[in-house]
Amino acid sequence: MKIIFVQLPVQEPNWEDAAANVTLAAGYLTAYAESRGLLNRSEWSILDAATSTYGSDAAIVDRIQRQEPDIIAFSLYAWNLERSLFIAERLRSMLPRTRLIAGGPEVVEDMPIAHHSPFHSLVAGEGEIPFAQILQDIRLHRPLDRIYRADTLVDLATLPNPYLAGTLPIVKDEPVHIETVRGCPFHCAYCYYGKNFPTVRRYPEEQALELIQRACKAGSSEINIMDPSFQFHPDLDKRLADFAQANTARLPVHTEMRLEGVTAATAELMKKAGVQSIEAGLQSINPKALEAINRKFDMEKFVHGLEQLQNQDILIKTGLILGLPFDGYEQIVETFDFLGMHGLGQDAELYPLSFLPGTEARARADEWGMARMELPPYWVTSNDWISSNDMIDVIAAFEESFEREWASPPAPHFTANSGGLTGFVDARKVENIDWMRLNPEKLANSMTLLADADDPESLSRLVRAARDLRRDNPFTLYQIVLTSNTRIPSERLIEKIRDAFVFEDHYYELSHYFSPDLQESYQTRMFFATKNFALAYRAMEEAQDLETMVIISGKAGYNADRLSELLPFVIFDRETIPFDRLYELLSIYTEYPHMLIEAPEQLFRT
Ligand code: SF4
Repeated sequence: MKIIFVQLPVQEPNWEDAAANVTLAAGYLTAYAESRGLLNRSEWSILDAATSTYGSDAAIVDRIQRQEPDIIAFSLYAWNLERSLFIAERLRSMLPRTRLIAGGPEVVEDMPIAHHSPFHSLVAGEGEIPFAQILQDIRLHRPLDRIYRADTLVDLATLPNPYLAGTLPIVKDEPVHIETVRGCPFHCAYCYYGKNFPTVRRYPEEQALELIQRACKAGSSEINIMDPSFQFHPDLDKRLADFAQANTARLPVHTEMRLEGVTAATAELMKKAGVQSIEAGLQSINPKALEAINRKFDMEKFVHGLEQLQNQDILIKTGLILGLPFDGYEQIVETFDFLGMHGLGQDAELYPLSFLPGTEARARADEWGMARMELPPYWVTSNDWISSNDMIDVIAAFEESFEREWASPPAPHFTANSGGLTGFVDARKVENIDWMRLNPEKLANSMTLLADADDPESLSRLVRAARDLRRDNPFTLYQIVLTSNTRIPSERLIEKIRDAFVFEDHYYELSHYFSPDLQESYQTRMFFATKNFALAYRAMEEAQDLETMVIISGKAGYNADRLSELLPFVIFDRETIPFDRLYELLSIYTEYPHMLIEAPEQLFRT
């Protein structure tokens, strides 16, 4: 038997969050199946990280189908659902003898996927026992069921930890994720986790301690304790003292908890255990909004707990939800004021309310008058208390109050080789456009295309190629850089190119729905790059449908005051630019490092 596990990551133009895509589900399923004698180590693999992270849709299909697996198992989350469905459909038609199965939080019985999908079988809920059942059915040549769901939850004392069992590696300088509990005592209306696991089960505490010790020896970068309510433990003080003893390398520990009830003594013990940051869901301070989503908040106790943790220099990351019932513009800004008053704004995260499959919030969305997205991320777009425009304004207020960007804007990259795949193509040469069209499986899932704005022939070729590229790799993110030193690309030209590549229902596009930005599209992002500074500054004023980039060469100078006043994107070559100029550039862009883009200078030599 040959099984390949696939868990596609969140797509980002520069793959910033690649490390966050940890294949824990595959680790647990295989560790359990191996422990039951249903699977050998040689029979399964996880899609290699380079392909999963960087690969285009066609690259992923190509790598998997070459291996001719018997089973392909997908982990479905909101961020990868649509793309996984597309890839699974392709694989199903190419590999008629292969069984495709899928599990994860997106598999919920009343969602469309339960009725129509490319998968032969779906696993709803906790996966280990159903996955073992599927393996047994296959080994005994029994027909597969359409949906598998465990009648009983697995006994965590018998469930091997994937790192300890060796189904996931502990890698130097990478985090280790330790699941210490399954289930949550709370019932937040927007959460599927609490609903999916109706009881709280704990892993034997020794497992976490052994893993912490191993992580210390292996030189892991941090320990992420996966417990939605870390403070709910029969003996928290002992737990923390044990963690402190096990954490010999003083690795930073990160976890989640409610702040109400944290005492000075607990905070001190947490510090000793290595806890460096805490995620504390706040969501809102509006009592009516909190009541509607089944949450409680005691401001006095919250502030007391917060102060104890702050006294120990433990970082608190609060989560807020935008678009809750009864939370209008004023109420949300009151929550911001509360954050600001207690020094929490800089590290807060603001998420629009998401109507995840199977949640109470989804079932009550109509009752609450919520307009929402049908596709992931399933966000609220307006409701009876706040309009769409006010949501955009509130995000702008968040950015202004806490001097931070809600979502960083996409930037191009000029790196030809990303994990063995091509992520940059010089589309000023028509032969490169043809190569790209004919080799979709060699491309990355985020492409920077450099195009000559003054060359109608190569531009038409590019627009024509878009149809093939979108057919083979519909989920690719594009950054299209038009160059000219003589004129700003016309609105018509920009629109024509963007429309050829745009995919409006892409998760990345929808997850920028509220980004306060004049250029509408995110999945296909348009840039104008020029050496002509005067032209660049004019483009910044006149062309709102483009991001402007100035190209700085090693020899030519520039007016630093003007640059720091207008802050366009900058393309430069670290190898050719004089050191004092580089230093100056880095100082000007201290707060906006993502706007400094490195590229070989010869790329722009005329
Ligand atoms: S959001 Fe957190 S606290 Fe609330 S039910 Fe889900 S896991 Fe529990």
